[in-house]
Amino acid sequence: MRTPIVAANWKMHKTVKEAADYFRRLLELVPARPPVELVIFPPATILWMAQKHLGGSAVAWGAQDAYPEPQGAFTGEISVVQIADLGAKYLICGHSERRHIFQEDDRLVGRKVGAALESGLIPILCVGERLEEREAGRAWQVVEGQLAAALAELELPSPAKLVIAYEPVWAIGTGVPARPEDAQEMAARIRDWLRERFGKAGAQVRIQYGGSVKPENAREFLTLPDIDGALVGGASLDPDKFWAIAQAATS
Ligand code: PEP
Repeated sequence: MRTPIVAANWKMHKTVKEAADYFRRLLELVPARPPVELVIFPPATILWMAQKHLGGSAVAWGAQDAYPEPQGAFTGEISVVQIADLGAKYLICGHSERRHIFQEDDRLVGRKVGAALESGLIPILCVGERLEEREAGRAWQVVEGQLAAALAELELPSPAKLVIAYEPVWAIGTGVPARPEDAQEMAARIRDWLRERFGKAGAQVRIQYGGSVKPENAREFLTLPDIDGALVGGASLDPDKFWAIAQAATS
């Protein structure tokens, strides 16, 4: 049984005051034992607040990125160990904005996934093709390459220790989501790949869809057989909308 996981990626949004208002409202909406796992990914400046407001609640939280070295001369970076030390549960690894704006390559993404697991964090590994790659019929080739590169060295102790987010780059922040049938096809291929790579545990890893998910279309994705949740950017900035999306996972 794969519990749906719906995650909010706030990206570079929200001040301390805005975050406090959000956490308060979200905790009013979410019951003590929601049927969906909820995760908030605030910017680094808000992580301490996530710990303060969400610690002990049914809502988990994590970081949008972290550097794989535990400590050292890496000005401006925050380490995976430091994120784990704050009490985070999840770490996004290889979001397309990190890959394409900050030129993160597969090797670095793989190091982040490995470091997250070593520190006790659960990586959400983001994979996805660009529009020209899809149009050239290379979508699966690209996604498979990203999976293979990031997970090459990995041991998977349990399916709960990894989440994959399939996020076609052209659907992120554009208002144009993938067609549900294309998202399902890709998720099924990812699941087959995970089964092949990790055996039975691999087949139970949760796979999210991300890319312009909103309350109006969430059900189309969250009821697909191989999609176990969503990674949500824009629409997650409003706690009511985020909760509405999460509810679609079990409606
Ligand atoms: C994301 O940031 O991972 C994302 C999917 O963004 P949006 O929902 O805005 O497309």
